[in-house]
Amino acid sequence: MEKTSVRCCIAGGGPAGVMAGLLLARAGVDVVVLEKHADFFRDFRGDTIHPSTLELMYELGSLDDLLHLPHQKTARLRFQFGDTFGTIADFTRTKLRTPYIAFMPQWDFLTFLSKRAARYPTFTLKMGAEATGLIEENGLIVGVTATTPIGPLEIRADLVIAADGRTSLMRQQAGLAVDELGAPMDVLWFSMPRKPSDPDETMGRIDAGRMLIAIDRQDYWQFGDVIPKGTFEAIKARGLHDFRATLTQMAPYMADRVALLDDWDKIKLLTVQVNRAKSWHRPGFLCIGDAAHAMSPVAGVGINLAVQDAVAASNILAGPLLAGSVTEDDLARVQKRREFPMRVIQAMQLMIQNRVLTPVLGGAPTLKPPFIIKLLQAFPFLQGLAARLVGVGVRPEHIRTAPHWPEKG
Ligand SMILES: Cc1cc2nc3c(=O)[nH]c(=O)nc-3n(C[C@H](O)[C@H](O)[C@H](O)COP(=O)(O)OP(=O)(O)OC[C@H]3O[C@@H](n4cnc5c(N)ncnc54)[C@H](O)[C@@H]3O)c2cc1C
Repeated sequence: MEKTSVRCCIAGGGPAGVMAGLLLARAGVDVVVLEKHADFFRDFRGDTIHPSTLELMYELGSLDDLLHLPHQKTARLRFQFGDTFGTIADFTRTKLRTPYIAFMPQWDFLTFLSKRAARYPTFTLKMGAEATGLIEENGLIVGVTATTPIGPLEIRADLVIAADGRTSLMRQQAGLAVDELGAPMDVLWFSMPRKPSDPDETMGRIDAGRMLIAIDRQDYWQFGDVIPKGTFEAIKARGLHDFRATLTQMAPYMADRVALLDDWDKIKLLTVQVNRAKSWHRPGFLCIGDAAHAMSPVAGVGINLAVQDAVAASNILAGPLLAGSVTEDDLARVQKRREFPMRVIQAMQLMIQNRVLTPVLGGAPTLKPPFIIKLLQAFPFLQGLAARLVGVGVRPEHIRTAPHWPEKG
């Protein structure tokens, strides 16, 4: 077995893990990120890069380079509720540097971040390396065991960061309990070709019993069909013909190409979970991102909160890690810093789930926009506040660590 030791070992190379690795390495901390997949190019996992994340890219001097990658910008989140059209969030009413959501495939974003991190000699990313267990000595977590394409690996570390997502094995092994908050829905994600004659905006359409999210990705649509929780098997049993008919009802412009949806393999089920770990840490161990709190897909914030956690963790822990003296109090500070912003967003998501989605998915016969939606239309300045809440959240993070290495262009 190969054995090695580092200051910090991060299990999981998603947005939380790669961003934490980048920032810690930039601050001079010796860090290894383990990602179990061989590449980032996998199923659709959300593409929304919010102004909070774009601002961090600006702080890193990388915003222009990031925006050179193919992406689409959306400045307004619009909806169709029955026959009523309106706007929920309007980024043009904010004073943000980047008043829009950038839609970019997550694999492009992760590749970009990992290339950016590879500039630093203290950054190592091991692809195809799956963390399989925690090494514990006298109640202190001191490392990780992993399997890699070239054999088993043991990494000793002053700190193990679990960034291994919503089904976190590391969190389970650390014995950290989770509060499940529940969700009334699952989401079926699929893409379809887009034609120039199609509508040209990202839109959520709500009709009795259904909600369809249509994200304009220029040459294709990314659709999210929001279904009542646990009903995918029943939908499958009714057949693709039925599914295609509902899609055409919700998005009539799909009628000429709906036949392309000819296999259930083209449709990916997101089993929605909303939860949070009671404690995010133990001595030598910290959870961030989805491993600490799985977010509802409402408002597409998961990637961005994961990135915010990574920034807070590096701001608070880079100094103690460099000094070789991370205490549990330091780890508690990360949870204290991030828990409130995360709870505010989860509260907003639960309110939308309960007040808007539950009645809709229950097939409420009279379809009137709920009070909150009416309020947003009556007072358009509220659409700017909604955009700020979705795009930046509360208590946004900024990069506070100084670069240890000379920055190259
Ligand atoms: C279908 C789908 C659609 C979504 N849509 C959106 C959206 O539109 N906008 C949005 O903001 N969020 C969206 N999300 C949520 C978003 O993807 C997550 O909130 C976000 O990626 C969390 O980042 P993370 O780094 O904490 O975890 P993840 O992105 O889940 O990353 C965890 C990483 O750890 C790796 N891993 C897991 N176990 C191990 C192990 N034992 N060893 C090594 N590596 C391991 C995984 O392969 C993965 O790469 C969506 C999620 C899904 C599944």
